[in-house]
Amino acid sequence: MSSTFDVINPATEEVVRSVALTSAEETDAAIARAQAALPAWRAVAPGDRARLLRRFADAVDADLENLARLEVTNSGHTIGNARWEAGNVRDVLHYYSAAPERLLGKQIPVPGGVNVTFAEPLGVVGVIVPWNFPMPIAGWGFAPALAAGNTVVLKPAELTPLTALRLAELAREAGIPEDVFQVLPGKGSVVGQRFVEHAGVRKVVFTGSTEVGKQIMAGCAARVKRVTLELGGKNANIVFADADLAKAAATAPYGVFDNAGQDCCARSRILVQASVYEKFLELLEPAVKGVVVGDPGAEATEMGPLISAQHLEKVASYLAPDTPVAFRGSAPEGPGFWFPPTVVLPKSPADPLVTEEIFGPVVAVQPFETEADAIAQANDTEYGLSGSIWTSDVGRALRVSRGVEAGNLSVNSHSSVRYWTPFGGFKQSGLGRELGPDAVEAFTETKNVFISTEE
Ligand code: NAD
Repeated sequence: MSSTFDVINPATEEVVRSVALTSAEETDAAIARAQAALPAWRAVAPGDRARLLRRFADAVDADLENLARLEVTNSGHTIGNARWEAGNVRDVLHYYSAAPERLLGKQIPVPGGVNVTFAEPLGVVGVIVPWNFPMPIAGWGFAPALAAGNTVVLKPAELTPLTALRLAELAREAGIPEDVFQVLPGKGSVVGQRFVEHAGVRKVVFTGSTEVGKQIMAGCAARVKRVTLELGGKNANIVFADADLAKAAATAPYGVFDNAGQDCCARSRILVQASVYEKFLELLEPAVKGVVVGDPGAEATEMGPLISAQHLEKVASYLAPDTPVAFRGSAPEGPGFWFPPTVVLPKSPADPLVTEEIFGPVVAVQPFETEADAIAQANDTEYGLSGSIWTSDVGRALRVSRGVEAGNLSVNSHSSVRYWTPFGGFKQSGLGRELGPDAVEAFTETKNVFISTEE
């Protein structure tokens, strides 16, 4: 008998829907169906597989407003963000729909014959998704995996299964066979664990916490299973004295408080050159107080609630009565898991506010002296996912970009995710890359075939 999970609207605390949790036996049955569906799916002519992915993209596009509203209700994302997220799934499907017809191998010169390579699908791919970006992170896994001829089983986070379930319906409407792309809502310790343990799953794509990521990697190691990991971050936004300070201060809140700070790319440490530190804080205060926090379904809202009561408690635990809070923005009263944008000024680099991924709307501002000092502080973390550099000196922008140990850096902006470009982490922020022109390779094995021409 399956148990169920009540999905809660984080802005109202009302139950939205009860979702059946997939059991271990049901997961194994789904994996078996995905294995059985593989030969036919990989045999679909490249142009037809491309067409099916484009139809899937078009179905997502036609359903964009519905998907976005569903995410507002399930995850408390602002409607503007949620539209972007659904649009990202559409765009990523379109982008990788070009791949089936371009899965090129190589003809390599060798004596005595002809040598060719093939990009073969891996088999069944298991995608494990966190609750913070349910739609995009699902798409970054399933779109290139399907394009390369794999079948996919996908587990959304317990808290946020609704858009993934809808995406599975849209895939079917578009003509993608049911067993080629299956969404299995359930527990990490049950469904996710089966993806890791089951010999029929050939690769696990995991996005989530570094802690769970390490367990997944260890489990996959026991079976030499392919794995991609996208994990946590404690990213630095480095502001030099020669930067456009007004712009750096006006945009800094959005670099960290977007999605209520529940973003692995959140710039949750702002490092400011000491000579402009006070000036920067003066400019930052009105920008933070100006962040519009409230009903995520309202067009003007810039920040919604946290995902759950439990997560609110975790974020709040970082703030004690003696925490050096510089200033805070606003948050609604009443039901919902609200936490105001908060700026703290930790005294020590060892303070958990500086070292730990809070995953909420809390940012630490710290001074630095020299360029070398800025790079050293930025790198003084186990993570290495993203970061920003604000300066008007092009040479410095490049030197610091090369010096910061992180996978995704952005100069005079806070961009991390663009589907055309590779995304992923250094150090304990992850392993492998998603998105960009090379992502499909991570869903194929190279097979080498030599054909003798000798008589
Ligand atoms: P989490 O690690 O608790 O869970 C992530 C997913 O893994 C969920 O679907 C969960 O059910 C599943 N899971 C949990 N235990 C499992 C197990 N033992 N075996 C298999 N699956 C298991 O993370 P979360 O709280 O949902 O998400 C927040 C974290 O995700 C943050 O640390 C954040 O930085 C990270 N994140 C990283 C990226 C990135 O691209 N680097 C993007 C988004 C979120």
